[in-house]
Amino acid sequence: MNIAINVGGDSENTMSAIANDLFRPMDVKGVYARTAKYEKIIEALGALVSRHRDPDAEIYRFPPVMSRRQVEKSGYLLSFPHLLGCVCCLHGSEDEIRQALDCSADGGDWTDWLSAADLVLSPAACYPIYPVAAEKGPVPAEGLHFDVAADCFRREPSNDLDRLQSFRMREFVRIGSPEQIMEFREGWMARALALAESLGLPARLDLANDPFFGRGGQLMAASQVQQSLKFELLIPIHSAERPTACMSFNYHLDHFGDAWGIRHPTGKSAHSGCVAFGMDRLAVALFRTHGLTLEDWPEGVRKVLGI
Ligand code: AMP
Ligand code: ZN
Repeated sequence: MNIAINVGGDSENTMSAIANDLFRPMDVKGVYARTAKYEKIIEALGALVSRHRDPDAEIYRFPPVMSRRQVEKSGYLLSFPHLLGCVCCLHGSEDEIRQALDCSADGGDWTDWLSAADLVLSPAACYPIYPVAAEKGPVPAEGLHFDVAADCFRREPSNDLDRLQSFRMREFVRIGSPEQIMEFREGWMARALALAESLGLPARLDLANDPFFGRGGQLMAASQVQQSLKFELLIPIHSAERPTACMSFNYHLDHFGDAWGIRHPTGKSAHSGCVAFGMDRLAVALFRTHGLTLEDWPEGVRKVLGI
């Protein structure tokens, strides 16, 4: 399919038209109410992804919060402390909580009385699955498949519609031998390109790295690239020169297997990988590419989406 993409000088106008038609601001950068038209595409994309799920996959839908202890144990705190959101509450006695309210009524800051709860905002859909997998005991020879999703939070406030603080992530997770993970990831990279083409999205794959924290993080990012552990599916949203990562294909080696004691019957730590669909970015990319009138979208794209 020959895909024409128009991301020239009108990009800003197009993005503000998308914002007006599909989102309502909610007072904070990167947090939006979404209109029915937008959600229709999110749902259609979700159904399309489901049709590509491995028949053996176990399905879980996680809440937008998860255990703080689990996120610490998974290594997220060490690698991405700048992106993590922690739930804080007024934990004290009635008198102490009253103090916070009185302070607020007097123009003070009630948040001074907050303390951390045992919850964080889920930073990615796959983090809660590793302890679930560990509970199942030794990984069978054929490995494990999961289909997971969550509303995710990352502290990266921005005015860009493709960089949200609260966004939907869907993931297919594979746990097993290195060969199984590589095969899963290679297969999905090819499938993702074909899917993007069927959706009329001009996509390409590229090697990528995660935004690890601090100076030590730069080393981790370099090592991630050197070992080709992360690829992304890039689609132009703002510009063709700097396309947006709408999916990622990740090989974690034995990081989670080790952290959670997920083992092969041989006793070796299992390897894992995940394929993440940035549902909101994919939806924005569709509107950016095909316009705001669903009836005008290419017939083939509407058919693939079932709309
Ligand atoms: P990652 O775990 O960083 O590879 O993220 C998986 C996918 O989630 C990315 O490929 C994006 O499509 C999506 N994503 C990550 N961060 C954001 C964000 N701030 N806003 C919207 N989508 C995001
Ligand atoms: Zn993941």
